[in-house]
Amino acid sequence: MKILLTGGAGFIGSNLIHYLIENTNHKIVNVDKLTYAGNLISLKDIEENERYSFEKIDICNYDNVRDLFHKYSPDAVMHLAAESHVDRSIDGPGEFIQTNIVGTYNLLQNAFNYWKSLDGEKKNSFRFLHVSTDEVFGSLGETGFFTETTPYDPKSPYSASKASSDHLVRAWQHTFGLPSMITNCSNNYGPYQFPEKLIPVVILNAINGKDIPIYGKGDNVRDWLYVEDHAAALYKVISKGVVGETYNIGGKNEMKNIDIVNIICEILDELKPKSNGSHKDQIKFVKDRPGHDKRYAIDPAKIEKELGFKPAHNFNEGIRKTVEWYLNNLDWCEAVMQNKYKLERLGNL
Ligand code: NAD
Repeated sequence: MKILLTGGAGFIGSNLIHYLIENTNHKIVNVDKLTYAGNLISLKDIEENERYSFEKIDICNYDNVRDLFHKYSPDAVMHLAAESHVDRSIDGPGEFIQTNIVGTYNLLQNAFNYWKSLDGEKKNSFRFLHVSTDEVFGSLGETGFFTETTPYDPKSPYSASKASSDHLVRAWQHTFGLPSMITNCSNNYGPYQFPEKLIPVVILNAINGKDIPIYGKGDNVRDWLYVEDHAAALYKVISKGVVGETYNIGGKNEMKNIDIVNIICEILDELKPKSNGSHKDQIKFVKDRPGHDKRYAIDPAKIEKELGFKPAHNFNEGIRKTVEWYLNNLDWCEAVMQNKYKLERLGNL
């Protein structure tokens, strides 16, 4: 296949491109605007690969997206480009509306016009995979899980914009017949995550001797999946998924934020011990995120049963690999942050 992959310079996109180059023979066209969150150094080791190419394009530009389909005649689209940070969606929701909703519309409409012009096997086998989040389902109480039939109830500007994009994908599938699928995944962690999200923020503040901020009481629960496992799941869906279906992706690994922070501190105490005390001494509870969802938990039974997906990493090995990766790649952290971000608090009304 020739896959048009949007958002390939971001966290999940760059891990997915590495996965596809290493584990398949497909060709990848990485389509990315290179926002603060998109960095080509995450793909340095494969930039010369003959199965990889890059197009610097804003998916909000309709004509540029149209030209892409003509230039490459793709067999599939994997759509990951998005504004992805809840805190930034509180400070500036406008970009989220543009990229996540209007950008997804541009891709869908251009994919549809392109797909209509195909015939035979190329038309039958074309697929559009929209990569979304479990946050569209809102917040859970102490019990229960999100399934594919859980009603949408997004609570943040980020999750509302992703929910909108999911609805558009369903509409293009139902009304126009565009052969599409949607995945809703839980929180990812691993290498190449921009250091604004919980796990890299904790690692970098800890080793720099700064306060480790925890929102509220630290008792919000997220369901964590190692990013390479997400990449493997997305590949299963694009190659074996059923058109019109939605697949929830998760690793059955619920953790409170405070427990994750404590685990990271313990790994750092072992790998980079302080002269006295523990990295845990730097933990500081700060004002909670406005509208902070309490708990997310995915029931991945459908993708396990129908597509045979099973995560290869358990949390203990995944988080250790992640901490080691950041310690070994501090130059990457510095390069992607440059003057764009200095680990300051965002989304604090
Ligand atoms: P990210 O913020 O790390 O990367 C997003 C990428 O999209 C960046 O490379 C950025 O340059 C690009 N981009 C942004 N706006 C663009 C535009 N207008 N045109 C072209 N490119 C643009 O995000 P991520 O964490 O890798 O998430 C990727 C996708 O997966 C998103 O759709 C997100 O909603 C979804 N998702 C993320 C998680 C998670 O835990 N990170 C979980 C579930 C689903």
